[in-house]
Amino acid sequence: MSTNINAEEQPDLSALANLANQFFKALPGQQIKTDPVVGQAHEPVRQDALVESYEPWLYDQGLRNNSFDHSPPSASGVGVSPSAANQNNAVDLRNPQTSFADPNLAGPKPADSVQLPFQEDEPFETRLKEILNNVRVSSPAVRIPFDQDTDAPYYFLKNRNGVLNPKNIFDRDASRVGQPIAPPFDVNLVRNDFPILRERVNGRPLIWLDNAATTQKPQQVIDRISYFYQHENSNIHRAAHQLAARATDAYEGAREKVRAFINAASVNEIIFVRGATEAINLVAKSWSEQNLNAGDEIIVSHLEHHANIVPWQQLAAKKGLKIKVIPVDDDGQILLDEYAKLLGPKTKLVAFTQVSNALGTVTPASRITELAHQAGAKVLIDGAQSVSHMKVDVRALDADWFVFSGHKVFGPTGIGVVYGKEALLNETQPWQGGGNMISDVTFEYTQYHKAPSRFEAGTGNIADAVGLGAAIDYVSRIGIENISRYEHYLLIYATRLLKEVPGIRLIGTAPDKASVLSFVLAGYKTEEIGAALNKEGIAVRSGHHCAQPILRRFGVESTVRPSLAFYNTRAEIDTLVNILHRLKK
Ligand code: PMP
Repeated sequence: MSTNINAEEQPDLSALANLANQFFKALPGQQIKTDPVVGQAHEPVRQDALVESYEPWLYDQGLRNNSFDHSPPSASGVGVSPSAANQNNAVDLRNPQTSFADPNLAGPKPADSVQLPFQEDEPFETRLKEILNNVRVSSPAVRIPFDQDTDAPYYFLKNRNGVLNPKNIFDRDASRVGQPIAPPFDVNLVRNDFPILRERVNGRPLIWLDNAATTQKPQQVIDRISYFYQHENSNIHRAAHQLAARATDAYEGAREKVRAFINAASVNEIIFVRGATEAINLVAKSWSEQNLNAGDEIIVSHLEHHANIVPWQQLAAKKGLKIKVIPVDDDGQILLDEYAKLLGPKTKLVAFTQVSNALGTVTPASRITELAHQAGAKVLIDGAQSVSHMKVDVRALDADWFVFSGHKVFGPTGIGVVYGKEALLNETQPWQGGGNMISDVTFEYTQYHKAPSRFEAGTGNIADAVGLGAAIDYVSRIGIENISRYEHYLLIYATRLLKEVPGIRLIGTAPDKASVLSFVLAGYKTEEIGAALNKEGIAVRSGHHCAQPILRRFGVESTVRPSLAFYNTRAEIDTLVNILHRLKK
């Protein structure tokens, strides 16, 4: 039997695991399972099977020692939660564990191109990773077609006077303007991590261009959630047993990963919720409800998703508040001068998106925040469409709250985040009451914990928080700046090709955009285009994208909206555009 690893190609981990399984199962005394359908040797592929399969070989190599304890280590490398360890594993119910420093979580982990799930620092595993890394060779770097390959730069790289704006070119690094750069990751290797990208739809390979609605999940996230339920599942914070410690450790470990990802000052500033919608509702129904009074004003932008409009409308109706809207220009850019005119002594809150889900506009978030603060208003930034495409630094933004959904950043559904400044969170009364968020309860009175616990009443979505942590690890390993650069290149490529489709109208042509390509095509309803693309295996969103006000600003009720992620390719865009050309014929 040979594994046929070609140094020019990536090794297929699943195939490797399968082969190894077959090999060791075929040793005397072992049985090969046969797939009843195809009649071939078949094993369900598990990442940890790979380690198991290598085990005899590892013994031979002296890399694994016989006394290895098979009990799984906890996610952050200890069998006890940091908090439990701090309390001699006797958890103090009056002071549950959210904010202890965990030395195991400190500092960035070295980047691995091959990741084995969750096993940490067993010597044999480090060696195994090295072995696998050695055969994992990136394909030749893809040159980005700029200057050399195209005759004209793209319209949206120019400023309003038609002058090329160096800041808009690829990596936004003026020193590299005009130089072809190579994406520092191999998109085909990355794609291998996403099992769903191997699906076929209507007989064609799936082309997932609905990333603004939700992103696909890498195997590492899927495995992490499964591992949680296999080895760690317990309720958190409340019991002094081993699994409670593991689950708490994993959950609080995920909180630390979120903190680092968005550069919050403390884990106490990270609240887990169901998603961006719940996050905005939390701020509306706690701080805003407690602090805003009749006549006060809330400013939102014209670009907002319904999730950042409706909760404010509900509050406005309840409390007699006024909502004001920042207008945008014909490209979909925020009009900062108009915004400045809206600010005044009555402005108490400015809530806006960092990236528009309908147009892709990147808003000048720091400037909007700065002006709001100068007027004495608080600021909420909706990061649902930004965190997966660009580096977010909440301290640099100086937002009072920043919210996002896990499922849009390659994590599971049902988990999201409110970042809030710690002092502000602790001044705010909780919006929901129940277990987990109290330090003392009598029938007369309840004392709440500090943040984040005070905003996490009841049993939260523990496993998916842990899955979100794995997604953040995954994105961080590729590097969010690398993702941003590669996607920017794809966006430019796609925009240029789409513009050539006869009868197309792009909706949202701001110079600074991320991921989204909204359009309408003369002679077709948007749902007809969606259906035609679906026939060819292409998933795009067609509709109002829960952002009706901004589409109406452009005189349409719906658009077709392909939206990109880092696993998309030029070839996929070519397929999309070819179908549109065919439709026009
Ligand atoms: N804000 C924006 C900008 C969004 O794109 C979305 C989701 N489309 C949301 C908020 C709401 O996110 P969720 O549905 O995950 O709560």
